[in-house]
Amino acid sequence: MSDNATPDLVFTGGTVVSHDGRRRNDVAIRDGRIIAVGEDLAVEGLPTVDATGLLVLPGLVDVHVHLREPGMTEKEDFASGTRAAAAGGVTTVVDMPNTSPPVATAERYRQKLDLVKEKAYVDFGLYGMLDHDNADEIAGMAELGAMGFKLFMGQTTGDNRCPNDAAIFRGLEAAAAAGLVVGVHAENDHLLRMFGDRLRSSGRTDPRAHLEGRPAFVEVEAVTRIITMATEAKAKLHIHHLSTADGLQRVRDLRAEGHRVSVEVLVGHLLLDDTAYDTYGNLIKLNPPIRPAADVNALWAGLGLGDIDVIATDHAPHTAAEQAEQDVWKAYGGFIGVETMLPLLLTAAAQGRLTVEDIVRLCSYTPARKWSMAAKGQVAPGFDADLVLVDPATQAVVDGTSMHSKHNVTPYEGWALTGAVVATYLRGGLIYEKGAIIGNPAGRQVRPARVPLATAGA
Ligand SMILES: [Zn+2]
Repeated sequence: MSDNATPDLVFTGGTVVSHDGRRRNDVAIRDGRIIAVGEDLAVEGLPTVDATGLLVLPGLVDVHVHLREPGMTEKEDFASGTRAAAAGGVTTVVDMPNTSPPVATAERYRQKLDLVKEKAYVDFGLYGMLDHDNADEIAGMAELGAMGFKLFMGQTTGDNRCPNDAAIFRGLEAAAAAGLVVGVHAENDHLLRMFGDRLRSSGRTDPRAHLEGRPAFVEVEAVTRIITMATEAKAKLHIHHLSTADGLQRVRDLRAEGHRVSVEVLVGHLLLDDTAYDTYGNLIKLNPPIRPAADVNALWAGLGLGDIDVIATDHAPHTAAEQAEQDVWKAYGGFIGVETMLPLLLTAAAQGRLTVEDIVRLCSYTPARKWSMAAKGQVAPGFDADLVLVDPATQAVVDGTSMHSKHNVTPYEGWALTGAVVATYLRGGLIYEKGAIIGNPAGRQVRPARVPLATAGA
């Protein structure tokens, strides 16, 4: 071996799981990158990590988290949220822009980057906002490394003004020119407000009113409209947290007509159905809402058919007091999830509902490719040594007191788990092991690789 090829660390004896298979292999790394995957890579006298009996996964890429900086740090901040990510085997997060103030200009984007970049325990991308009037800011945010742009067609935390269709189209064109993804919260805002007003004036304050105020066709309409517009604008479109059977069927129909779009579902939409409102009340208020079992089953069927591209968390922390709010109209939407995603999905894998390869594909490989993270999502030479060591047989229960967010209130409290994160490595450095965060924040900004347009010349 030449000196250049000498590893500084080798993981031995583990089973490397990729998006399309698994194989017993060593993984050799040097300077934070994987240099070889194969048999018998250990070099005498050099450090090794014994991964015998463990699965070795590429670090998860969660493209949907709200770490609440700036402006809402009583709920979460970049340090606490990325510690939770590290403990959950998530080595890259994409943070949403609906903060206070929202990240809707290049100036705000730069300020946010300065604010968070020294605090991150895992690598991070930052979304900008596609606002009601900021198409002129898209290129500037792209220049600063924006991972993409979030479009709220329906209102959510932060009460941002939803853009009208003309503003959406101009934003889609600007994002397409920058070659970046537009990620959409697809619900029709006018209909949401009308149904909400109706239920409120009828005197309803119970958790289920939130579900009744967001019927499936509100999602179907928004999905149809945004896919139609994105195709016309040649934008790379991603639907965040698709939640209904009808919405998924509309995506299938539009794909059959030639439209291209990726689809995400949330862990919460897969593991909870509307019977859970009786147990958890407003803790599981979510936008879009937790749905009836027929929708949940359709999402699982969609996963099995390959119609769904990404699983994400929508990690959306609030304070413990906020999560206890009894009036559904005063309660916030969302709950934490970045630390429990992998153990919960490993548990689903142990139950035969999907495979660990599926988890790698949906939570690491495909997100890394869709968002052009050139060095993420695979355990292969040239990729970042973001590795998660998993024991698929460990029996545990979800225990908020051992978790790392600021407020560890979770509907999954006490749920039985099969499978656990043993250790997490970020670019070759150990950042989490057996319950403990290791070392100082070492996360870096991930910028999408610039994919040159065919027409752009040399
Ligand atoms: Zn969200």
